Amino acid sequence: MGRQRLGILGGTFDPIHNGHLMIARAMLDKLGLDRILFIPDYIPPHKRGWHCSPSADRLAMTILAAAEDPRYTVSPMELDRGGVSYTCDTLRQLYRKWHRFYDLYFIIGADSAEQLPTWHHIREAMTYATFAAAARPGFAPHKEKVSEELARQGLRNLVWVETPELDISSTAIRERIRKGEPVDTMIPKAVAEYIEQRDLYRQ
Ligand code: ATP
Repeated sequence: MGRQRLGILGGTFDPIHNGHLMIARAMLDKLGLDRILFIPDYIPPHKRGWHCSPSADRLAMTILAAAEDPRYTVSPMELDRGGVSYTCDTLRQLYRKWHRFYDLYFIIGADSAEQLPTWHHIREAMTYATFAAAARPGFAPHKEKVSEELARQGLRNLVWVETPELDISSTAIRERIRKGEPVDTMIPKAVAEYIEQRDLYRQ
């Protein structure tokens, strides 16, 4: 077996939604990935101070959603590591373990791509994985400016991938559930059932 391509999709997944799953599928096709590892974060660096749902719930929902494709795996590595979940630490760990077999691709949305220059040790992170940015509604106009800024800072290991745009965010889903509005077109059925059973996001 030759080298394979491993996609990595990190997020808070509070909850995981069809936008995440859509970019995962699009990246599988467009980048010719063999597998995707979903990694829920413990304390997201850019959302410190915000209280997300318990890790166990976010992990459970991610596992339920990932069941749709045998090429998907969920890793609790950031939850096990604890502390602030820096992508660089995660990629370093994955690189050490897998680089003899896999090329690594770190999947992000266009909104995250804009923030990359502020990421902790981003330069080192980009030595472990190619960053692959998916389209996200509202962010296309910034693409060139962002690329130029990243290049100016020597951050060149980023590819923009043409993906469908889905206007879905975890924030909007939590908001809708709190207001009692339906979310069944935005998340997988198993995730919706889990949210209902655990009574998440009602207040
Ligand atoms: P929140 O609304 O709570 O900030 P989110 O919907 O952005 O959450 P995260 O779990 O923070 O979800 O996202 C993980 C990754 O998935 C990020 O890189 C983000 O840019 C990307 N992403 C999330 N939703 C979409 C979407 N609809 N289209 C493209 N990328 C997305």
